[in-house]
Amino acid sequence: MSERIFDAENNNRDKEQEAQLRPQNFSEFIGQSRVVENVDLMVRSAIVRKTAMDHVLLSGPPGLGKTSLAMLIARGLGSELHVVSGPAIEKKGDLAAVLTNLKPRDVLFIDEIHRMHITVEEILYSAMEDYRLDILIGQGASARTMQIDLSQFTLIGATTRSGLLSNPLRDRFTAHLNFDYYDPEMLSVIIFNNSKKMGIKLSEEAKLQIARRSRGTPRIANRILRRVRDFALVNNSPVVGTKEVSAALSLLDIDDLGLDSMDRKILTVMKNYYQGGPVGIDALSATLGEDKQTIEEVYEPYLLKQGLILRTPRGRLLSEDAKNHIS
Ligand code: ADP
Repeated sequence: MSERIFDAENNNRDKEQEAQLRPQNFSEFIGQSRVVENVDLMVRSAIVRKTAMDHVLLSGPPGLGKTSLAMLIARGLGSELHVVSGPAIEKKGDLAAVLTNLKPRDVLFIDEIHRMHITVEEILYSAMEDYRLDILIGQGASARTMQIDLSQFTLIGATTRSGLLSNPLRDRFTAHLNFDYYDPEMLSVIIFNNSKKMGIKLSEEAKLQIARRSRGTPRIANRILRRVRDFALVNNSPVVGTKEVSAALSLLDIDDLGLDSMDRKILTVMKNYYQGGPVGIDALSATLGEDKQTIEEVYEPYLLKQGLILRTPRGRLLSEDAKNHIS
């Protein structure tokens, strides 16, 4: 069976191995210049004002550098970073415990903030606006609100679907910064830097080949690099060339356009079952046996960006390019 680029297990393993490859300072953080310019200004201003930095929402597909940037922000501010995952916080009390533990100017990073339970999310409103927790104690006539003051902190929310955030939450972020897929030139620089960190020498063509097939996503480039390193080690090749890269890509089942097996399955199902569409997301998800949110957040953005799928009011349509690609 071919390996899935984006499944949860691979993603968790990637995240563990990523610590070594994370950019350590802003100069190592490549591309996304608009985002970095904004963040740099906000960090400097917070330092001059000697207050917590404004809250910021980072949005964009997985693996594009949102967590890495949050780490750099905390480092730039000289503050401690606290990382939590939105869907993992099940009760208000869990989030309250995290918030009351924050020290002045600390940074709280909430990943997948759009997946937080709405009841939990509500306590963020006063926390973000007034650095205060409003907690309702008791029920009915005897219910009363208790207020707890919090340290001035910065919330960094990361989301793959900013459109799914509730309005009250979205409005409380001062800056909304959007990450876009990287072009092959930018990815080449990241690949070069990370190959050095991994102790592998890449030929120029090998580097470009990885860059073109990484779906515009540094996390995928890192995965390909790791597999390439394995081939180089086993074959005892001092310089990695296109032969090792092609072998790694084929093992990962990544094709000429950088699509993996799930991308191709989506396109194939659209072509064979739905005659190229239009098809609604619910029908597509049922036929594929894949979670609707995963299709919308992980796979579809890149297929849309490449013009392989088109979104119309009547549903998703397969483009001519996509039909040619899969046939
Ligand atoms: P996200 O939080 O958006 O899912 P991450 O911050 O975890 O993405 O990025 C995954 C990996 O990709 C990082 O460990 C890092 O190696 C690499 N990476 C992402 N963005 C950049 C960048 N702009 N410059 C250099 N490396 C990057």
